[in-house]
Amino acid sequence: MKYRSLFAFAAAALLVSAPASAALSRSEQVMVQTVDAEQQRTLDLLQRWVDQNSGTMNKAGVEAVRDMVAPEFQKLGFKTQWIDMSAVNRAGHLVARHTGSKRGKRLLLIAHLDTVFEPDSPFQRWQRDGDIAHGPGSGDDKGGIAVILAALRAMQAAGTLKNANITVFMTGDEEDAGRPLSISRRDLVAEGKRADAALDFEDLSVVDGPNGPVEMGSIARRSSGSWTLTVTGRSAHSAGVGAGDYGAIYELARIIDQFRGELPEDKLTYNVGLIGGGQTVTLDPSKIRLEATGKTNIIAATAVARGDLRAISQDQIDRVEAKMRAIVAQPLAGAHAEISFEDDIYPPMPPTEGNRALLAELNGVNRDMGLAEMGELDPARRGAGDISFVAADVNGLVGLGPASDGSHTASEQVDIPSIFKQAKRAAILMSRLAAQHR
Ligand SMILES: [Zn+2]
Repeated sequence: MKYRSLFAFAAAALLVSAPASAALSRSEQVMVQTVDAEQQRTLDLLQRWVDQNSGTMNKAGVEAVRDMVAPEFQKLGFKTQWIDMSAVNRAGHLVARHTGSKRGKRLLLIAHLDTVFEPDSPFQRWQRDGDIAHGPGSGDDKGGIAVILAALRAMQAAGTLKNANITVFMTGDEEDAGRPLSISRRDLVAEGKRADAALDFEDLSVVDGPNGPVEMGSIARRSSGSWTLTVTGRSAHSAGVGAGDYGAIYELARIIDQFRGELPEDKLTYNVGLIGGGQTVTLDPSKIRLEATGKTNIIAATAVARGDLRAISQDQIDRVEAKMRAIVAQPLAGAHAEISFEDDIYPPMPPTEGNRALLAELNGVNRDMGLAEMGELDPARRGAGDISFVAADVNGLVGLGPASDGSHTASEQVDIPSIFKQAKRAAILMSRLAAQHR
């Protein structure tokens, strides 16, 4: 008797330690098994994509990746479409659509084909080292596309893809978007208006916790926009500088220092990235270089500064821009200043209740998979991205791609097991969402 109850206890302990899915449905278990059975196939695909250079400006390279990726979606019953972007000097966007039940929710998956590594970069190849693989785009964002395909194949195997409405939008210029954004992001914005949920397959957010790395949910991203401040002053001999005439450089310094002192608020950052002043200042057309001339004994006639502003909501952008204009409008004697804000901005993705509900769905998946629930990532820790363009129109969740490190540098690497973990999460999450009515 005693022996038997001990055995029962051991069996129960076994069940707890292998949550293999007590809480997962039969079809969800099939998805988990399919992702695992196809690990090598997924990695082989990813390796081929990584070995093909697709720097944003290497348009032929971006198209070559498209030609490898598109058939994988076609095999799963997706119709693919190429949206040419030569009008903004970029390759284009690949869109893959799967049409399911009329009543089911429409999912929009967002990823990108390009990388920051152009053909002249020394960083060009996939190199595996145990559970890590180095390579351009291994995580950002070819790894994201690998997660999407592994998840969709698992859904197909489990029978949950058939009725799902899924559009996968893969931009070809995420790392350096074509301008104006009104053209290069027009089609993505339109897809956002049709969709019921947007899922971004850029890297999973992982932060350091007291007991090691902690995976986080990401439901917000800040905007990214730039401003230009132009100051003119009354030029005169330096002996006259002071109360009646400070010139352009003192005025510029007053403004940016007042910005520093008066603008700070939660979730906002403001940076000055470029500055120059003197008798003449010439800003080059790309606005990343300027040339200044001047003499120490002449009061500066002109000064220019450029910087950015990152905010969590349109309200915050409006409020801070108004403060900046007010500061600019109180010039020192002998100077006049003007500030302009770029129209072409990455909009904010604020942490809405709708986005939070999507994270709650994902946490339901986490619980049922026996994984820890994810808290909300501080949006200040995440840059702007393509999902921001649909944030005004549809609920969204960021970071469904693999865990990666060193992105945008020659030490970019992807955590291989995270590709499969994320594919399982995504397959189950998408199957549950797609089965809900609109
Ligand atoms: Zn990216």
